[in-house]
Amino acid sequence: MIEQPLNTAVWVDESRCKACDICVSYCPAGVLNMKEDIHAIQGMMIEVSHPEACIGCRDCELHCPDFAIYVAEKGFKFAKLSPEAKERAAAIKANHFRKVN
Ligand code: SF4
Ligand code: SF4
Repeated sequence: MIEQPLNTAVWVDESRCKACDICVSYCPAGVLNMKEDIHAIQGMMIEVSHPEACIGCRDCELHCPDFAIYVAEKGFKFAKLSPEAKERAAAIKANHFRKVN
């Protein structure tokens, strides 16, 4: 596990990510998406685009098969799930897990 960046809700170890999309498919708040990355073996990489919207549910961390994504401990001040975040999550999923805004 890599160390938590200062005041960050969710962070990744890109060296472990296999771009499987699983964490993005579970995230209810549209925090995560896949981005193109020519240096990654699969050509794609996980991206934390909206950390301010993370609700701390840990679904990403619990389902990542490669232990590549981490969520802050309980004391962290996470967001509440907003309609906007839910809409963004649905749009990302409909967009093949790619960023929508
Ligand atoms: S903890 Fe929940 S809301 Fe936060 S990035 Fe992971 S799946 Fe999304
Ligand atoms: S579940 Fe893990 S390996 Fe798959 S895209 Fe997310 S961070 Fe990468």
